[in-house]
Amino acid sequence: MHIPDDQIERVRAAANLVEIVSAHVSLKRRGQNHVGLCPFHQEKTPSFTVSESKQIYHCFGCGEGGNAISFVMRMEGIEFPDAVRRLAERYGIALAVDRTGGGGAKRGEERERVRRVNELALAFFRERLAQAAPDAPVRRYLDRRGLDARMVEAFELGWAPDDWQALTAHALGRGQSRDDLVLAGVTAKRDSDGRCYDRFRGRLIFPIRSADGQVAGFGGRVIGDGEPKYLNSPETPLYHKGSILYGLHPMRKQGGQRPWVLVVEGYLDVIACHRHGLTDTVAPLGTALTEDHARLLSRHTERVDLVFDGDNAGRAAARKAAMVLAPFSLDVRIVTLPAGEDPDSLLSGAGVEGFRACLEAGRPMMDYLIGTCLDGTYGAPIERRLKAAEPVLEVLGRMTDPLRKGHYLGKVAEALGVDERALRRRFGAVRPAPSQAARAAGSAPAPARTEPGRPPYGEDLLMHLVLQGRVDTRWLAERIAPEAFTDPRVRRVAAGLKGLAAEGRGPDALLDRLAGEPDASALVAGWLSREVTVEGDPVDCALACVAAVGRRESQEVHRRLLADIREAEAQGDTPRLMALLRQKDALKRADRPAAAV
Ligand SMILES: [Zn+2]
Repeated sequence: MHIPDDQIERVRAAANLVEIVSAHVSLKRRGQNHVGLCPFHQEKTPSFTVSESKQIYHCFGCGEGGNAISFVMRMEGIEFPDAVRRLAERYGIALAVDRTGGGGAKRGEERERVRRVNELALAFFRERLAQAAPDAPVRRYLDRRGLDARMVEAFELGWAPDDWQALTAHALGRGQSRDDLVLAGVTAKRDSDGRCYDRFRGRLIFPIRSADGQVAGFGGRVIGDGEPKYLNSPETPLYHKGSILYGLHPMRKQGGQRPWVLVVEGYLDVIACHRHGLTDTVAPLGTALTEDHARLLSRHTERVDLVFDGDNAGRAAARKAAMVLAPFSLDVRIVTLPAGEDPDSLLSGAGVEGFRACLEAGRPMMDYLIGTCLDGTYGAPIERRLKAAEPVLEVLGRMTDPLRKGHYLGKVAEALGVDERALRRRFGAVRPAPSQAARAAGSAPAPARTEPGRPPYGEDLLMHLVLQGRVDTRWLAERIAPEAFTDPRVRRVAAGLKGLAAEGRGPDALLDRLAGEPDASALVAGWLSREVTVEGDPVDCALACVAAVGRRESQEVHRRLLADIREAEAQGDTPRLMALLRQKDALKRADRPAAAV
């Protein structure tokens, strides 16, 4: 999929970064810029800066940075073309050339149609609940569950009458098309004769809003008899159950980072917690936690408490969740409830104090895993204990934070009663590759920033001058090859600039070229957002930088050559050694100033 440059530029010109960032970060104006708490690292004082005039963001804390497209890529965990398409949808730009036959625009239009139907259905369901008689079964159910008017309002609960045509007829009467109703999943179509009927009948309705507040779909709990007990919207252009958390939208309305977030299982658990003042509670929707969920969570908090049943199924679910959450820097605790209880039942039985006592007894994820896996293996042969510890080692293998990993490796070694070094060696063998799906979706957790440091001074300053427009892109391309830079990020930036210069373009489109390279993009955003001050002519300054880079390059070549020579000597590889020595001679001659030859 290739999106032509002029299309990308149209999208970039239309996008408003302040608006886009504001959906995720609460921004305050400060002088020329907007600042807020960085969504990419944990911080208490804002160092995340958005420049409206330049349409770039830069975090002075963690070094993240980029433009609207890279922000959407990072936040949504999607690839460059998808981010461009998403912005095009949002700003109503039809991407003219699209090999899927206008697929992007079509998807955007479909999402809009589903959104309209869902809004209409939401109003319909709510109205029907408001009209229900006080002794209607749904009212009696709400009373029994302690769902008062305040909760009905806060969670926008509704009622789908026990009728095959109520909503469908209502929506058709308001000009919606049958196709759109089916697309949104509120109406189902019978395969045999194509007849359409209401999907939700005789159910209490829980509207599901995505993090950005759109009504993505619905969940319905049957009132009275009927199967299944819970029914959710099918996957639609708006509703993807693996990336929505119920309760996240009301939580986000409170704004900012949350100290900790509770993850429970169902709608009623979320609402019960909310009712008892635990408002930072969310639930996945009839599915195990996914990487998308983990990413959403890590954007809002540092600590996640997962509530599970104390039974075998609960233990298996906790292990699965640990695998998914391990790569994220989240402090995860596992809370187990007494057999047969869920948060809703526990809260109505033991009250908020009883529930809080369970929460407080929660254990850090790795301690919990070590405990449950090695339980009952004390004194068993070491091979059996190692086998039992395998789930723990697998989760360890997925951790990306070396400090946490090292800490728990020590703990596991101690629990097993084995030498830590031996465990480290064995450990290397159980590290699994990132999941296929995650890689295919390009949504594997972002690798830990490997090199947050600045490039060497000369390279840093030179690029800063170019990106600030003090030195021309072509000037740079003519004087120094991208390969001459020692910092790999600068090399990629220089290559991008060279390509743009060849097309007679300035550095504006550079961030798009570097979209897949967060390290290089972050540097560019930094150079774009900070003014550079030099004494005298910037071109003289740039020339001095080029010379410094050239010197460092020849030193680097020299160093590598010497290392190769030593290696060839050690291996007794005479032909290679001779070739290397000839190279060294040639280099010496080339290095000598011309006048001295
Ligand atoms: Zn940051």
